[in-house]
Amino acid sequence: MQRIWDKGWLTDECCSCRAPILSCSFWSPVFGQTIGSYDAKLAKELRQARDSFVKLRGLPRLLTSRSLDSLPANVRNYLAVTERLYRAIQEHAGCRLIVDTSKYPTYSYLLRLLPALDIRVVHLVRDARATAYSWQRVKAYPTAKGTRYMERHTALRSAAAWLILNSLADLLWERDPMRYMLIRYEDFVNQPRRTFRRILDHAGEPEAALPLIGLSITHKCLGDCRACRASIARLPRCQQGGEILAR
Ligand SMILES: [Zn+2]
Repeated sequence: MQRIWDKGWLTDECCSCRAPILSCSFWSPVFGQTIGSYDAKLAKELRQARDSFVKLRGLPRLLTSRSLDSLPANVRNYLAVTERLYRAIQEHAGCRLIVDTSKYPTYSYLLRLLPALDIRVVHLVRDARATAYSWQRVKAYPTAKGTRYMERHTALRSAAAWLILNSLADLLWERDPMRYMLIRYEDFVNQPRRTFRRILDHAGEPEAALPLIGLSITHKCLGDCRACRASIARLPRCQQGGEILAR
């Protein structure tokens, strides 16, 4: 949800059910309840408010913010809209728990200021070599305006982003063990049931079936949606010895 207001996401992207997001049977009423009809000016304002605290330049202000009252009005408004968004998702999905795969630890750290949200952070770390390999691959995905390709990064850029994001997650969340949990991606691939159970415990949820087989139509928006269209989720694995293989 972190990037939901970014340029083009709502107007151009497709949900994993293949419908454009704004006409998807799930997301259309969710956004209607959150912001009414789509408004490009509002989306831009929300994006700017978010970036002022979530991007690296906002880190000093984020670290010194202890309550909603200490935030600028535009950031308080951004958080109010974000809270409405999660409420709408919860109502329309009929769920207690929302799994948000946003990757910036600064985003979850900002959301901690919303007392209505009970946030649990799962810091999923993948081998940096596998991450760099994945970012170099060509990945196409459908949009309302035709096929697009995911960004590709050089190994150097991937390494820098890996270091910065994982260091930030440690810095911001590691001292809060009640809400923070570290998972190695390779452990999840090798022991998916056990790792999934640990995540459920962390979230305070009861036992549930491993959601990797027999997937029905999902409404995942943004990111790599290919796994959501399969009946069996595939978990890319990296081999021992540094050779990276995926899919
Ligand atoms: Zn959908």
